[in-house]
Amino acid sequence: MELQVQPKLIIHGGAGSSLHGKGGLETVRRSLHTVIEEVYSLLLSGATASEAVVQGCQMLEDNPRFNAGTGSVLQSDGQIRMSASLMDGTLGRFSGVINISRVKNPIELAQFLQNSPDRVLSDFGSAELAREMQLPSYNALTDLRLQEWMQERQDNFKSTMAGVVAEPELLETSNAGRGTIGVVALDVFGRLAAGTSTGGKGFERIGRVSDSAMPAGNYATSNAGVSCTGIGEDIIDECLAPRIVVRVTDGMSLKEAMQRSFGEAHQNKRDLGAIALDASGAIAWGKTSEILLAAYHDGEKIGDTLEWNDSELIGYC
Ligand code: ASP
Repeated sequence: MELQVQPKLIIHGGAGSSLHGKGGLETVRRSLHTVIEEVYSLLLSGATASEAVVQGCQMLEDNPRFNAGTGSVLQSDGQIRMSASLMDGTLGRFSGVINISRVKNPIELAQFLQNSPDRVLSDFGSAELAREMQLPSYNALTDLRLQEWMQERQDNFKSTMAGVVAEPELLETSNAGRGTIGVVALDVFGRLAAGTSTGGKGFERIGRVSDSAMPAGNYATSNAGVSCTGIGEDIIDECLAPRIVVRVTDGMSLKEAMQRSFGEAHQNKRDLGAIALDASGAIAWGKTSEILLAAYHDGEKIGDTLEWNDSELIGYC
């Protein structure tokens, strides 16, 4: 098949404070690169951006290291409630689920809702939908996340968020971090899509709503697509994803849009990160937090941001 457009792909596994051990870093790198390889070949074989995003999100949700799907963090009452959203840039259509429990892949419900007149469902409604879709009941809890929660509970929930990835080493310290996964894809037809899925901040109040199932945290049009991670409240206050996308739509390059938006986020002392693509194939990432766990395929090679720790707020290629 002759490619009309060179596909591009970028994914993330969260942003936060630095990974503990080099072992952790290499494992995360392998996990991210495996997802990039599989999803990029899907794009080369003609999958749509939305299909690629859903596949990538599912793979990341299924990896217990990341805070989405299996391995989601626990809320203040010890329960897992997950949120996910999908935005198809060509259709300009957002869909998502908020605080769903006992399903394996929240992104699947977001995908289903793309074709529904009611496109964002909260806890009770999303549970009803899972039943309608006949999804088997699934327990996303892992031992590591349970231990993390029990330790945090002993300290009376002092951390603002749970660990960026589930690492045994983290249990020995009170190293706070972030989680969440996200995928942004540009397919051979030149279409963009973005997806984000999370277990939330960890230790939050019941009913707290994450940015991951809001346009603030996940947004795409035919011009650009963005998936965010970090403290949801900060992402919402910056309205980060649409802020970047609208700037590109109004004529800024993706690099300029990221530079401006992350400059503002930094000034406002936000703690967040984002990955982005535009319709011309530009790839960019940004963070105000210490690290951003992201990897990308630029059409020629795979790259990642795992050891990018400089003072620059953004990177691009
Ligand atoms: N943004 C997510 C939330 O606040 C958490 C994260 O990205 O780690 O729910």
